[in-house]
Amino acid sequence: MATSKSLGTAQILDALRVITDPGSGKDFVSLGLVANIKVQAGKVSFDLYIPSHAQDHKDEIKRKAVDAVKNIEGVLAVFVNATLKPRPRVVHGQQAVPGVNHVIVVGSGKGGVGKSTSSVNLAFALKKLGYSVGLLDADIYGPSQATMLSKFLSLDAKPEVKENLLIPLDVEGVKTISMGFMIERDQPTVWRAPMATKMIQQFLLGVEWGELDFLIIDLPPGTGDIQLTLSQQSNISGAIVVTTPQKVAVEIARKGLLMFKHVGVPILGVLETMSGFACGDCGSMSAIFGEGGAKALSKEDNVPLLGQVPIDAALVRSCDEGYPIVLKDPQSASSKAYLQAAASIISQVEAQGVGSEQDVVPLAVESLPAVEGSSHRLAIFWSDGFKYTYNAKDLRFYCPCAVCVDEFSGKRRITPDSIAQDVSLEKALPVGRYGVNLVWTDKHTTGIYTYKYLRELDAEKVQERPNPPEESARLSQARS
Ligand code: ADP
Repeated sequence: MATSKSLGTAQILDALRVITDPGSGKDFVSLGLVANIKVQAGKVSFDLYIPSHAQDHKDEIKRKAVDAVKNIEGVLAVFVNATLKPRPRVVHGQQAVPGVNHVIVVGSGKGGVGKSTSSVNLAFALKKLGYSVGLLDADIYGPSQATMLSKFLSLDAKPEVKENLLIPLDVEGVKTISMGFMIERDQPTVWRAPMATKMIQQFLLGVEWGELDFLIIDLPPGTGDIQLTLSQQSNISGAIVVTTPQKVAVEIARKGLLMFKHVGVPILGVLETMSGFACGDCGSMSAIFGEGGAKALSKEDNVPLLGQVPIDAALVRSCDEGYPIVLKDPQSASSKAYLQAAASIISQVEAQGVGSEQDVVPLAVESLPAVEGSSHRLAIFWSDGFKYTYNAKDLRFYCPCAVCVDEFSGKRRITPDSIAQDVSLEKALPVGRYGVNLVWTDKHTTGIYTYKYLRELDAEKVQERPNPPEESARLSQARS
């Protein structure tokens, strides 16, 4: 993060607002598709996340971005890293699993609806689309991936442990870990929920996943402890709910969907399996398990329908042979449905993360000169496109450090009068991934302002605040 008086991040962001997403028509900066801006001796570099629907325009967008920045006075060279991968999910500066850009859970209301089959095939479909993928079989009571991948792995394959981390097994480029690799084949898993939950966390964080675009987690069916713990504790990019078309299955799937919503996990969509049977002779479709269930669920609960996988005997065979259909027969109707669903997942991930409050971080902090009758000001350019302008004196007054606020009572130890009218910002130093240390010209250096706090300090109000003590009380209350 840079405080800038000459060439700075803020100027570059402003220039890049001319780049628009052909899909939504919104500008790239507001959509949060620009990141990692670096400026050094007139050389500017940044990352551009091109949405997959705009992939045909990638070169044109990149060229426009270079031209826009090149035109800024003082810029000597521009380096753009344009990628078609979705922007990583980071919540309050943290990833769910370090190094993994997106964690996606696959759940279902009840067992036997094709959740594991779908998790495996979606993982390979995402791999086929060019992403790096991991697959975690968290269905610890009925792990099936060792069987579903048995063409590539011996049934007694065991992951190695290095420096206390499990090394996932590589199946055609997808990193996999399953409870099935850890227990004897004919042993039942007899664990109480707390133990099972602990095991899942161990799986999530105790595995050397490396750098991944996606980690697909195959959850146990239902809405129990494990599902809840996993959903609550991780910065999950989203959930997929798998269901068959029957009314009874859909009703239970809705419970799963509501659970995810309840704990704030974004729903990427519903995937319907065993959707209809194509007659081998005439090709006509029969709705053996009913029809329209997932479509209705998607409509009523306002979530996307990711796809419909037909009832497919070849898919069952491929599961039994341990050879996922997306690898075995990529041209089959089921594989096409999974590939299409994977593409929809990408679009959903691209759309849901952008501009979400949780993801917002400051991209630049800029000192602005005093205007007549007021103190210096300070502009923060946030990753969701907002620019907050603070009155420097007010922001200094609201310093959250222990010198300025009594830690126990929350009472402010300083008064507005004790702060110099002409105080301004000297530097802004990033602290971890969650805040910024503002260093003021009055030599006050201990204030660490979290991004959350800076967003809560409604900039307009800070400037117009008529009665500082009251406002201070409101803020301390809001923080406690
Ligand atoms: P879950 O994980 O929901 O318990 P599975 O993925 O283990 O379900 O699938 C249960 C059974 O249904 C397996 O035998 C699998 O081969 C079969 N199956 C999955 N999807 C389909 C489909 N689209 N058509 C026919 N059978 C399927």
